[in-house]
Amino acid sequence: MPGKPKRILILGGTSDARELASRLNADEEFFPVTSLAGLTSTPEPLDGETRSGGFGGVAGLHRFIEDHAIAAVVDASHPFAAQISANAATACEETEVPCLRLERPAWEAQEGDDWTIVPDVRAAAFTIPPEARAFVTVGRQEIGHFFSRDDIFVLARMIERPDIDVPAWAELMLARPPFTLQQEKTLMVARDIGVLVTKNSGGDATYAKVAAARELGLPVIMVARPVKAGVASARDVDGLIALLEEGTA
Ligand code: NAP
Repeated sequence: MPGKPKRILILGGTSDARELASRLNADEEFFPVTSLAGLTSTPEPLDGETRSGGFGGVAGLHRFIEDHAIAAVVDASHPFAAQISANAATACEETEVPCLRLERPAWEAQEGDDWTIVPDVRAAAFTIPPEARAFVTVGRQEIGHFFSRDDIFVLARMIERPDIDVPAWAELMLARPPFTLQQEKTLMVARDIGVLVTKNSGGDATYAKVAAARELGLPVIMVARPVKAGVASARDVDGLIALLEEGTA
């Protein structure tokens, strides 16, 4: 008789987390509990159990792991979500529960790319030359850095409306990836874009804009990923499940 499934806490907010929840839900050895930050009003459906909202720092996450008999934590949060990853590493150390990271590889510049790599979103906003027409895809939380540049045009694309006002020199575009190469090229040409600003998110769903910039000969301001805690990690769901089987055996 198979034993009780092991409860795996997935720190979500990414398509990889969603895929992992679906795979674990179909596996009788595991039961996925996905946690979302609660910032998106209409998150896509997830298999298994879900919860939403912050835990209340390391102490809250520590309590959650104990109260819900979590056998392992998979940090499948976005590469740019630095705080929750740090909290997970610490809470797992404290509770002696394995912490694994699922992180798709970063994009790498290839021939024909013209990238300026910057350390964070704020630096990206300062790097845009005056008078430029910028296509900015850094999400809604940090878009304010660009809205305060009244000397440029900003095409700001994001999934949900930001909490701040959109200034007259910016255009807001609400859309959910994936986008095709042709869609991205058409958009960039139609808005007469001169520079693309993006986080180095990695993965396929949002890569078309980078390929489009290359094909159109446009420069890219690429925000580098923050450095995260050194926990055992996998680049895809198959690799993560193999780690999980070893780590919880
Ligand atoms: P963050 O800076 O790392 O986290 C800020 C706080 O939000 C955390 O301390 C935690 O609150 C709460 N939080 C974050 N992720 C959570 C989760 N999965 N479950 C429960 N609480 C969570 O995160 P962020 O950059 O604001 O990102 C928030 C969420 O959006 C993440 O789940 C991330 O995967 C997703 N996301 C982020 C980006 C990005 O560019 N940053 C892009 C796409 C998706 P407490 O301390 O109270 O626990």
